[in-house]
Amino acid sequence: MTALPPFVQLQDVAKRWNGQLGVEHISLSIPRGSFVALLGPSGCGKSTTLRLLSGLELPDEGRISIDGKDVTTAAPSERNLSMVFQSYALFPHLSVAENVIFGLKVRRVPAAKRREMLQRSLEITGLLGYEERKPGELSGGQRQRVALARAIVAGQPLCLMDEPLSNLDAKLRASVRKDIKKLQLDLGMTVVYVTHDQTEAMSMADMVVLMKDGHIQQVGTPEDLYYRPANTFVAEFVGAPP
Ligand code: ADP
Ligand code: MG
Repeated sequence: MTALPPFVQLQDVAKRWNGQLGVEHISLSIPRGSFVALLGPSGCGKSTTLRLLSGLELPDEGRISIDGKDVTTAAPSERNLSMVFQSYALFPHLSVAENVIFGLKVRRVPAAKRREMLQRSLEITGLLGYEERKPGELSGGQRQRVALARAIVAGQPLCLMDEPLSNLDAKLRASVRKDIKKLQLDLGMTVVYVTHDQTEAMSMADMVVLMKDGHIQQVGTPEDLYYRPANTFVAEFVGAPP
């Protein structure tokens, strides 16, 4: 049996601003089809790591590859990924349907195919019947589902999410969480998910990357972090028994 090469790989990546640390020595191998949480307190470098993966920032040091291709300096559009943010980034003047298929129109996907993909994505996210609504007429949870539907129709193998639930109340969070997991479990997408909420990370992720002050503290399964914390910071952050 040969081990599969990692789908996403960061090798000793660093990013600084005017000499000030963003992240440093970030090395990470992400298997295809996994759900990885980047976890840690505010300012620890989660979003920076995600932006480096997406190409919205370029690293000062290190290499990044996706699906065997070196993308260290590639533009976001060349990385075959979709993104979901904390703010929904929807077009307020367009309907739900138009928001979801916007990217397909840009890519000149034929109308019949667009309708089929729209239908499927709204089914998965529980938004059937909301096609003609405007974002302003939706709840926060529904708006975030529109963003998920958009990521689904993008059809990219990798989805990057930065605190997608943080604008939602606790009840909504639980249900949108399930929809987010569908991207991995039903559609086979690889998800890299930023959160500062350890409960979210531990319940959703196959692999948790716990960060502090721009450095990775531990990479492992939720069980690893909980029962075999690498240091006291990890133990305290995940709330493991002393
Ligand atoms: P997190 O997402 O974990 O809250 P960030 O990745 O946003 O943390 O930030 C990590 C560090 O990098 C912080 O100290 C932050 O101030 C700094 N940082 C992030 N983006 C910038 C930027 N565009 N310019 C300067 N400093 C930045
Ligand atoms: Mg952040």
